[in-house]
Amino acid sequence: EADDIAQVAKWLAASKSTVLFTGAGISTESGIPDFRSPGGVWTRYRTIYYDEFCRSASARREYWEQKAEAHTEFAAAAPNAGHQVLADWETRQIARGVITQNIDGLHQIAGNQNVLELHGTARAATCLDCSARFDIEPLVAEFRASGQVPLCPQCETGRLKHATVSFGQMLPTDVLEKAYDWCGEAELILAIGSSLIVTPAADLPVYVKRSGGRIVILNRDETGLDNIADVKLTGGIGATLSAINAALAGVI
Ligand code: NAD
Ligand code: ZN
Repeated sequence: EADDIAQVAKWLAASKSTVLFTGAGISTESGIPDFRSPGGVWTRYRTIYYDEFCRSASARREYWEQKAEAHTEFAAAAPNAGHQVLADWETRQIARGVITQNIDGLHQIAGNQNVLELHGTARAATCLDCSARFDIEPLVAEFRASGQVPLCPQCETGRLKHATVSFGQMLPTDVLEKAYDWCGEAELILAIGSSLIVTPAADLPVYVKRSGGRIVILNRDETGLDNIADVKLTGGIGATLSAINAALAGVI
């Protein structure tokens, strides 16, 4: 394991283009449960599909009730040691930026500026009717105070939804295209805290490999791509990233 950490640090130092790819696992140490953790906000609720949200006022109410409750956990969360290391690597130009499946915005709070959010963000809402975009805080506050599902402040009648990708909704094509650009040019990708089972998340590291780059996986459990990883680092993410960062000091 110590040898693996040293190897990854060497690759990181030598790589001219490194992509950091993250899933829910990087944020569990900030107190936000991943998809599969028992009792997490994600598992307590009925899934509301995008088309149901669009056509049903009662589904929109249920959605806003779910999100207002989950918001408390979100708002209280702060970046952890793992997020800090990734922000530091972007600042030092050790990595190009972060491609994330997360919607919690913690990478940006930690200091990353180049962040591609494949699943959008829970820190904003968008109007499905006029596409205006708003900060989520006042809208959640309004919903809590009035009990009424908020309507778009811009067009005044539009349906507001968190700026996240719902089940049954397309991923933003511009973000996905950029992610593929980064991965095509990457000499190295670190896939951190993602189960790497669902696409397109699982396809991005495969694309790096096909384009001649290396894959390093950080996860405490098995992932869908362990068989093609150049190195798999098994363990907690904050500790593993801190160990790589420490080893990096010896090679650059
Ligand atoms: P996932 O839950 O399928 O996978 C998370 C992975 O991280 C798992 O393999 C788990 O074993 C591992 N893991 C968790 N904590 C870890 C730790 N401390 N150290 C090492 N490994 C750890 O998540 P996913 O693949 O990202 O897919 C779930 C989807 O649900 C996401 O794409 C996202 O859109 C949404 N989601 C987002 C958040 C968030 O924004 N923080 C949280 C939950 C779910
Ligand atoms: Zn609107």
